[in-house]
Amino acid sequence: MVDADQTFVIVGGGLAGAKAAETLRTEGFTGRVILICDERDHPYERPPLSKGYLLGKEERNSVFVHEPAWYARNDIELHLGQTVDVIDPAAKTVHFGDDGTLVRYDKLLLATGAEPRRLDIPGTGLAGVHHLRRLAHAERLKGVLAALGRDNGHLVIAGAGWIGLEVAAAAREYGAEVTVVEPEPTPLHAVLGPEIGQMFTELHAERGVRFHFGARLTEIIGQDGMVLAAHTDDGEEHPAHDVLAAPGAAPRTGLAEAAGLTLVDRARGGGIAVDERLRTSDPDIFAAGDVAAFHHALFDTRLRVEHWANALNGGPAAARSMLGRELTYDRVPYFFSDQYDVGLEYSGWAPPGSYDQVVIRGDAGKRQFIAFWIKEGQVLAGMNVNVWDVTEPIQQLIRSRAQVDTEALADPHVPLDSLVS
Ligand SMILES: Cc1cc2nc3c(=O)[nH]c(=O)nc-3n(C[C@H](O)[C@H](O)[C@H](O)COP(=O)(O)OP(=O)(O)OC[C@H]3O[C@@H](n4cnc5c(N)ncnc54)[C@H](O)[C@@H]3O)c2cc1C
Repeated sequence: MVDADQTFVIVGGGLAGAKAAETLRTEGFTGRVILICDERDHPYERPPLSKGYLLGKEERNSVFVHEPAWYARNDIELHLGQTVDVIDPAAKTVHFGDDGTLVRYDKLLLATGAEPRRLDIPGTGLAGVHHLRRLAHAERLKGVLAALGRDNGHLVIAGAGWIGLEVAAAAREYGAEVTVVEPEPTPLHAVLGPEIGQMFTELHAERGVRFHFGARLTEIIGQDGMVLAAHTDDGEEHPAHDVLAAPGAAPRTGLAEAAGLTLVDRARGGGIAVDERLRTSDPDIFAAGDVAAFHHALFDTRLRVEHWANALNGGPAAARSMLGRELTYDRVPYFFSDQYDVGLEYSGWAPPGSYDQVVIRGDAGKRQFIAFWIKEGQVLAGMNVNVWDVTEPIQQLIRSRAQVDTEALADPHVPLDSLVS
């Protein structure tokens, strides 16, 4: 049984870290809970940073996981603006902050998240080159988009992933000119494959976004610190006043690596290797959220899920595991996105090469449908677009591994529940 003299330390105050702290208290842990984060803001949720908050439709206050007073009320020792720079698993200590504070832990959670990948090309040091991960980035980008909109300015976005597309939508709503440069032939290629990726091309092209597929940025040209244009490897020059670098995120594994914990190769998704209880290769160190790569029994592969729901559920699961509870973390991966008037939810895991068929249920032309990715008659993933309250039956279909009748699946008159065996 966990006793009141124990100290649990959480590194990283994103959603996973904050939710883990909350769960330790709701599960009755009475020892010390120390939450350390290198950001100065209280733990917050990132999805609004590329949607409602970026568009000026959501208040800054609405993004925080808990109100500031919650931490003291729940006896969470919160250290903001402090970086953990060393973990010593043998001594069971973490070292953090400018004054070199050393704390001994009984259990440690690494919830260090991910950071934007950088474009390794000339010109990225110019003031008009942006990333989007933090609240401060979103605050700055909001001002940039508003100014571009006012002045008919050009934004070049490197990468047609979720963040690139959501910012493209926001930028068009502000009235900026937008060019998206993407090496793959469709947006979101690595997640959705070409069939559904095409829908996103059409959605954005209709709103005036220009796509430049099959190319990479090679250089950002500037003068006196200002961006003037961006070059791609096919010799094209794209007018640009600002550039958003959105080539994806990399898990923050530096601390874990230096501490000798087992990592997953970058080619296999990277991250800190954890078991089904979110334990790392050190039995007293756990990992959750974007940084953790866990074996998913359903898909029989190791997954690292960079999505909100995985932080929301993984943080609490890791907290329970730290308390010695038996559990298997096997949530069906889930994420959501909003772009213009399109809202969607995706459940499952079906990268290109893993499925043999995409079945559409509903009206793809009106962007009101569910797409299913199928392999040998089994549903691997489903994405509902402007269709709501279907996540549960979609996830049941995925979990059941039932052989589905694809004609019935495509027919909106056949209830989804009736297809789950
Ligand atoms: C702009 C944006 C929009 C998104 N939109 C969606 C969406 O629509 N739907 C969806 O499902 N997902 C979305 N996501 C993904 C989702 O926000 C992430 O999956 C989630 O934030 C992961 O939470 P986390 O706690 O694991 O990591 P993070 O949120 O990255 O938090 C980790 C924290 O740890 C800190 N840290 C790291 N190392 C140290 C250290 N050594 N010492 C101290 N502190 C440290 C970091 O600075 C950070 O504050 C979005 C992400 C972004 C950036």
